[in-house]
Amino acid sequence: TKLVYMFDEGKRDMKETLGGKGANLAEMTRIGLPVPFGFTISTQACNTYYDSNRKITGELKEQVLSSLKQLEETTGKKLGDPGHPLLVSVRSGAVFSMPGMMDTVLNLGMNDDTVEAMAKLTNNARFAYDSYRRFIQMFSDVVLEVDVYFFEQHLEEVRERKGYTSDPEMTAEDWKEVITGYKNIVKKHTKRTFPEDPKEQLFLAIQSVFDSWNNQRAIIYRRLNKIPGHLGTAVNIQSMVFGNMGDDSGTGVAFTRDPSTGESILYGEYLINAQGEDVVAGIRTPQPIQTLQNDMPDVFQQFIDTCKRLESHYGDMQDIEFTVERGNLFILQTRNGKRTAQAAIRMAVEMEREGIISKTEALLRVDPDQLNQLLHQRIDDSYEFTRLVKGLPASPGAATGHVVFDSDDAEALSQEGKKVILVRPETTPDDIHGIVSAEAIVTSRGGMTSHAAVVARGMGKACICGCDGLKIDLKNKQFRVGDTVVNYLDRITIDGGTGEIMLGDIPMIAPELSEEFQTLLQWADEKRTLGVRTNADTPEDAKKALEFGAGGIGLCRTEHMFMDATRIPIVRDMILAENLDERMAALEKLLPMQQGDFTEIFEAMNGHPVTVRLLDPPLHEFLPDKEELIVDVTKLQITNPSSHELKEKEQLLKKVRQLDEFNPMLGHRGCRLGMVYPEIYMMQAKAIFYAAADLLNKGLVMEPEVMIPLVGHVNELKAMRQVVEEAADQIEQETGKKINYTVGTMIEIPRAALTADEIATEADFFSFGTNDLTQTTFGFSRDDAESKFLQHYIEQNTLPENPFMVLDQEGVGKLVETGVKLGRETKPSLKTGICGEHGGEKSSIEFCFEKGLDYVSCSPYRVPLARLAAAQATI
Ligand code: PEP
Ligand code: MG
Repeated sequence: TKLVYMFDEGKRDMKETLGGKGANLAEMTRIGLPVPFGFTISTQACNTYYDSNRKITGELKEQVLSSLKQLEETTGKKLGDPGHPLLVSVRSGAVFSMPGMMDTVLNLGMNDDTVEAMAKLTNNARFAYDSYRRFIQMFSDVVLEVDVYFFEQHLEEVRERKGYTSDPEMTAEDWKEVITGYKNIVKKHTKRTFPEDPKEQLFLAIQSVFDSWNNQRAIIYRRLNKIPGHLGTAVNIQSMVFGNMGDDSGTGVAFTRDPSTGESILYGEYLINAQGEDVVAGIRTPQPIQTLQNDMPDVFQQFIDTCKRLESHYGDMQDIEFTVERGNLFILQTRNGKRTAQAAIRMAVEMEREGIISKTEALLRVDPDQLNQLLHQRIDDSYEFTRLVKGLPASPGAATGHVVFDSDDAEALSQEGKKVILVRPETTPDDIHGIVSAEAIVTSRGGMTSHAAVVARGMGKACICGCDGLKIDLKNKQFRVGDTVVNYLDRITIDGGTGEIMLGDIPMIAPELSEEFQTLLQWADEKRTLGVRTNADTPEDAKKALEFGAGGIGLCRTEHMFMDATRIPIVRDMILAENLDERMAALEKLLPMQQGDFTEIFEAMNGHPVTVRLLDPPLHEFLPDKEELIVDVTKLQITNPSSHELKEKEQLLKKVRQLDEFNPMLGHRGCRLGMVYPEIYMMQAKAIFYAAADLLNKGLVMEPEVMIPLVGHVNELKAMRQVVEEAADQIEQETGKKINYTVGTMIEIPRAALTADEIATEADFFSFGTNDLTQTTFGFSRDDAESKFLQHYIEQNTLPENPFMVLDQEGVGKLVETGVKLGRETKPSLKTGICGEHGGEKSSIEFCFEKGLDYVSCSPYRVPLARLAAAQATI
């Protein structure tokens, strides 16, 4: 089998074989861009390596050697040749980009002989020995696993001894001294001499790239980004070009559009006289790309042209790495650039307008999950607050949290439920767990393309970089800005859109949608056939959802109206009632309140449909906690045994004990309440119809959809439907208004889904309550499973996802499908929707579309996501 491909043998659609980087290097070679030549070892070779107990097979070895020969012939240089030495980089390149997660070795091929050749050829001994020591350091770190700390310490020592303050003062002789020291370090820590044979170096480096596919941070990154572990990484071996050959050389990274805002301007940075890793590592703060025009006008023009060409060739924003070696431009990498949600939307809409992509492609360019970022709060400028310091606005969004200085702390505290802001001099791929856990990231060094910035943008987290006004003292866990000291766990607020850091908590305001966002969602609405409604039970939520484009309310839960502080006493009277008369008296007081609630919500929805669900939770939820009551009663028995308060609490406790159930979620709730206390549902139904009649008087038509929860048997629905009809008849007679309404049911018990044909005889619509349906199908308590064992299940891959977040299509989904099918056998026009949390999750939305549901209903802030996901489902 062919395991190795020269760059001129591949093309862009060979990602699976060549990895993303390899495929793009091949494509750029194919279209004639200046790419240093090389070859790619395929992902299959990586998998074979693992299948052969982490051994490089003879077959692979042979192919690598023959490709190397071709590379040597093309470049006219030879690996290890003391006359014309070839130096190469060895880099990973997975199918899906995993920036910085795997290993890279540069300058491979250097040894005591080739370094001299380099010195002669470049006429620059200082450069040659500096490169050699960099190579020893990198190779030892990555391949031989000797901690860089030892090398840094040694370098520091030499520098100090010579009385220098910075590296550029070091001479070739000084570097030679450092190299001798480096080799001793290697010998001490690995019990062997540094490998000088370039071919041995090459195979060791290849092996270490393969191994890095399974290092800790790569595994975490794959888990976060749902990249399968069996794909393997390719390895790219490319002849080196040098950005550190003097002031006519340099290296940089650029995006063809601003990855933070999406604006169509070249966005990037570079360093003169530096190697690629210097930019990404964020150690020196680079120059903005625009000044390259002054430094190297010809190269700048050539680079601009190349960027335009690459962007239109790939039809997407590109993230490009380049190096200039003695005035010659080389492109080392291109890939579709990571971007914030805001940028993704703006680019998609503008590229459609520029004719680069179609509307359909534009819709696919934005990941619905990313939209969350945009619907988040930002700092309220109308308040006065002092800005402490300003850095680079690397990723937009605002956040408040406790300051932490390392990633382990960030992780530990966030697991305790604390919101933290990770403050670091710079981040490396080893900080990935800290970045994941933090609300936001701040670094004192590094530019807009530094590790922290790239990763944060990808995750949609606020980030400020290169904030050099911030003096971090890691040892004492504090940072200082002028005279202000901020300690570990102090609270700060950051604004990633402006780069500003403030002390303490700053008020935030709700987001609004940009013009491009609105446009994209309009395109989504033109494309989608699935309705999008919202779950809302206050007029504020209803208005918010309408603003976000909801077509109606799919679930108005009425229990929150019962929880209102002013109503709880009346609700308690209703529960404590000893007989029907007492209960009726309490219900009579609740009726006008409920009516008011519905009037406000119906008005807010301005003619859009509203599904109101009758009372669902077990009644004990409206009473105080049992344990607390026992404590209160015991105290009162001692301190005030004859008080009225004690009597009241004792009575309450008695009722709480009566209502106590072993499994309240499987207990006396949902329609089972209506069955035993039809007067409660009757009151609610009347309130709904009074409100609708009231609206009719004002000239607004509202046709309420009354929904009965937790039905398992058709007879339950039949009985509850009669209650609703009776209420409707009464109100019609009383008000003289004819109100059109429908009665439907939630499907959230497996039996209801399995007998949906019978249930449909009594239902005008079905709404799948997939929260309860997941609970009852798996038999997982929705209140306990996640904290007790579900996490374990997911980590062990027993379940691919948390089924309370992502619909379990094979199990719960089968019941949904069955319910729809059986229901429509009875009533072809039966309206069906989903209103569990899954109604706002993209893969579940796609499933609902495929199974022919009419709508999904989700929380207001998820409505935009649902509109886009529903459009993508049709593509
Ligand atoms: C459901 O069970 O999916 C549902 C929407 O109802 P609730 O979450 O209120 O039980
Ligand atoms: Mg439910």
